[in-house]
Amino acid sequence: MSGTGCATWQPGYRALLDAGELSRRVEALWRLASPCRLCPRSCGVNRQEGLGSCATTTKLHVAAWHPHFGEEPPISGVRGSGTVFLANCNLRCVYCQNWDISQLPRNFLHHTMGPSELAEAMLDLQALGCHNINWVSPTHQLPQLVEALLEAAERGLSIPIVYNTNAYDSVEALALLEGVVDIYMPDLKYADPEAGSRYSRVPDYPQAARAALVEMFRQVGEEWVTDAAGVLRRGLLVRLLVLPNGLAGVEESLAWMAQHLSPRVTVSLLSQYRPCHWVERGRFPELARRITLAEYQRALAALDRHNRSEHTYVQPFFAF
Ligand code: SF4
Repeated sequence: MSGTGCATWQPGYRALLDAGELSRRVEALWRLASPCRLCPRSCGVNRQEGLGSCATTTKLHVAAWHPHFGEEPPISGVRGSGTVFLANCNLRCVYCQNWDISQLPRNFLHHTMGPSELAEAMLDLQALGCHNINWVSPTHQLPQLVEALLEAAERGLSIPIVYNTNAYDSVEALALLEGVVDIYMPDLKYADPEAGSRYSRVPDYPQAARAALVEMFRQVGEEWVTDAAGVLRRGLLVRLLVLPNGLAGVEESLAWMAQHLSPRVTVSLLSQYRPCHWVERGRFPELARRITLAEYQRALAALDRHNRSEHTYVQPFFAF
C-alpha cells in the first residue's frame, strides 16, 4: 500500500546520527575500501594507497552539483532534485551519455573535494528547496559520501538521500546503507550476462545487480512514502532503459522482479536511449540507433504483463 508521510517525517540518517551509528557506518565503509570490495569488481586494492578499476582516490571526485528537474516527477518534484554527479564509474558502458564524466578519470584526478565541501554543497541544495540529495553513480565513492553526509547531518541536513546507481553494487556495502538511504533508484541494465560483458565490461552484471536489488527491496520494500504533493520520501524505483534490438532484456527483468521481489515494485520505463560514446564512433552497430516505436510498444506490453505498481512511470516516446 502506498503511504503519505506526516509533517514530522525525517530521513533515516537523522536517527542513525542521534544514535551515534552514522559515524560507525563511515568507519565500516572505509574498511570495505581497504582492500576494496565496495562493488562486485572486488579489485582488492587498498584505496588509501592505490587505484582500482574505477581509478578513484579516497577524496571526493565530484563533476557537478545543482538542482535537477529532469528526473522522474516524484524525484524532481517542483523544486528539483539536489543532484550530485560523481565522477568516474565502476562500469564502462559503451553507450554512456555521460562518458566525459564517468570514463575520463584523468580529468578528475586532481579535481577533488573534502567531506566538508560536499556537506556545504548539500546544505546549499537543501536551502535552495530541493526535495532530496541525489547521489548519481555513488558506488565507488561511498565512504567519502557518507562521511560528508555525517557532517551535513550534524549541520542540519534533513532531506532524503537518493541512491541513483547502475546497480553494480556489493550487498555488503548496501547493507551498511540501511537507514542511511531512503530512496533507492537503481538501473537494471541487462538480463543477459553476455550483454553486461560486451556493453558494460563486467561478466556478471545480471547476477550482481539482482542481488543488489534483493538487498534494496529488503530495506525499503515495495511501498512508497510520499509527501502531500506526491514527492517520494522513501521507496524503491527501478529504471529500465529500453535498448535497440531487445538488448536490455526488459521483459526478462520485469518477470524476474515480479517473481523474486514483487509485481508491485515501482518501475520507470525509459525510451530516451541515444547512441553515444563508443557507439557513436562506429563500434557496436547493433546499438547505433534510437529505439523504434514497435520496440517501445513491446516493452510497454511486458510492463502490462508483469508490473502492477500504481506509481510506475512510463517515459513518453519521442519520434526523432
Ligand atoms: S569501487 Fe573501484 S576499486 Fe573498489 S572494487 Fe569497485 S571498481 Fe574496484
